[in-house]
Amino acid sequence: MTIRLYNTATRTKEDFVPIDPDNVRMYLCGPTVYDRAHIGNARPVLIFDVLSRLLRHVYGDTHVTYVRNFTDVDDRINETALKRKEAGARGTLEDLIRERSDETINWYHADMDALGALRPDMEPRATEYIAEMIAMIDGLIGGGFAYAKEGHVLFRVRKYEDYGKLSGRSVDDMIAGARVEVAPYKEDPMDFVLWKPSSDDLPGWESPWGRGRPGWHIECSAMAYELLGARFDIHGGGNDLTFPHHENEIAQSRCAGHDFANVWMHNEMLQVEGKKMSKSLGNFFTVRDLLDQGVRGEVIRFVMLSTHYRKPMDWTEKKRAEAETTLRKWYQQADQAENGGTPYAPMIAALSDDLNTHKAIQELHQLSHADDVSALRASIQFLGLMGATTPSWANAPAYDLRPLTEAFMNIRQAAMVSKDFGAVDAMKTNLANAGVEVRMSKEGVELLPTSELDVSKLEALL
Ligand code: AMP
Ligand code: ZN
Repeated sequence: MTIRLYNTATRTKEDFVPIDPDNVRMYLCGPTVYDRAHIGNARPVLIFDVLSRLLRHVYGDTHVTYVRNFTDVDDRINETALKRKEAGARGTLEDLIRERSDETINWYHADMDALGALRPDMEPRATEYIAEMIAMIDGLIGGGFAYAKEGHVLFRVRKYEDYGKLSGRSVDDMIAGARVEVAPYKEDPMDFVLWKPSSDDLPGWESPWGRGRPGWHIECSAMAYELLGARFDIHGGGNDLTFPHHENEIAQSRCAGHDFANVWMHNEMLQVEGKKMSKSLGNFFTVRDLLDQGVRGEVIRFVMLSTHYRKPMDWTEKKRAEAETTLRKWYQQADQAENGGTPYAPMIAALSDDLNTHKAIQELHQLSHADDVSALRASIQFLGLMGATTPSWANAPAYDLRPLTEAFMNIRQAAMVSKDFGAVDAMKTNLANAGVEVRMSKEGVELLPTSELDVSKLEALL
């Protein structure tokens, strides 16, 4: 079977031909580990998780190497550490920085695990590859592609002819339109930082150019080279990274003599209820926020995969609720089958066509109508929506909870006026005893059946 992938570098959908089918290599730009991942950050993780599953399906489980880095050199990490130190935390600033990155990485793992994303084969941390970055920068200076000035090392953008090719911009357009920083140590405002000095109170590493730290772009070039070699198959990330991050990665790597990635894949952005996510609009939330509200990881995953990765996607409450209904139904059907079935061929075909997860899910709707429970089970497992056992929340008996929801809303409404929430609490307890989960938010009340649902107890509450 042939996988076809849209390559940003050529702007066409191409047959995917691995360099070595026994070792298909993929690199995804990972998170900067300064805080919890927001819901948008989960999008590339889930998309490339599905891609890695598809590649393993086609080339064999042990024939894929998937690398996703952690960027743990960052001012925002330092800031938190500094604040903690000022507040009296024990340890050196370095310890506290490491502690903050460790803490964030642990959160990231827990959150992405909850979404059913498999851990990549390697998860390098930038701080563990500083020597390799220095070596690469040194080579670029040697080749005349970079220069050191005032403790900085800069990449000479005009020395790389193809600069701008990935993102489809010319250097002159970029200068005209971009927010490029002019600085006394730059030969050209377009030149970007490979290395910069660190002040005494910030983390730094000894280098031929003095104590300092790497620029962000060189991190990925160095780690991808060390772990995947001079040439590898797929490089991914959100389309906000196309320029400048990926453009700069390409320039550095090519000038260092590496062919670098064959295929460049970029996901479109996620927004929330039709608006760009932002703290000031109040529509910013993390994966953990959703999980804590009781939204199941596989529901988040389902919503994410329902949109093709090259289309902007909208996270909405409506989609969340629909996904829950669909998954519950599919789980109930799949529960009638055993593990070990064959995934539905039209679904695999949709995934093979530029990872069309939207179409793949449509195919599963068809399959669900056809009631082929064995293929359905294998297919939703393939998509990472279900493990070896059927989640228990799916097995709640069918019971129309709408009248009770309405009754609950009325009680809540009355309590808002009277400020006496005793009746609300009592109702909540009764519902819990009858096997119903209660979710309350600004928007309203939602009652969800669990596998412990007890119809006779519920009848008594009406
Ligand atoms: P960062 O930690 O900001 O470097 O982002 C980590 C990954 O999340 C990158 O691949 C970004 O492209 C991606 N990303 C950030 N915001 C969004 C968003 N709103 N929608 C989809 N992907 C995003
Ligand atoms: Zn990167």
